[in-house]
Amino acid sequence: MSNQYTMHMNCCLWKADKIEKKKLINSLHTLEVIEQESHFTRKILECKNCGQVYLYEFTEEVDWEDGNDKQLFRWFPVESIYEAWKLAETPPIGLINHPAIRIDFSKDMQNPKGPYKYDPS
Ligand SMILES: [Zn+2]
Repeated sequence: MSNQYTMHMNCCLWKADKIEKKKLINSLHTLEVIEQESHFTRKILECKNCGQVYLYEFTEEVDWEDGNDKQLFRWFPVESIYEAWKLAETPPIGLINHPAIRIDFSKDMQNPKGPYKYDPS
């Protein structure tokens, strides 16, 4: 996971110092819906400004015991729609180290964390 992602980092959203949620949502439109359920969603999105493709993923961990559901929203920058489909073959846990714009939220948090850029490289 080193430089192979460098080419994906030219999106205005990715390059911004601080990502505003409203701008993030408004800048992306849906190309394809891979899966859409109440606790798991994956879509292929495109940046209206620069054409950057993202695999978008929403996961919710439902904890019936204390109702402390964890929500994770991730936007993975990818090179193409094909790459997005390929990435979507990986289960969410397998993408934990993949660069992404993220929003994390659980009910014990007062406010969601993010959107922020997660880039372990
Ligand atoms: Zn962009």
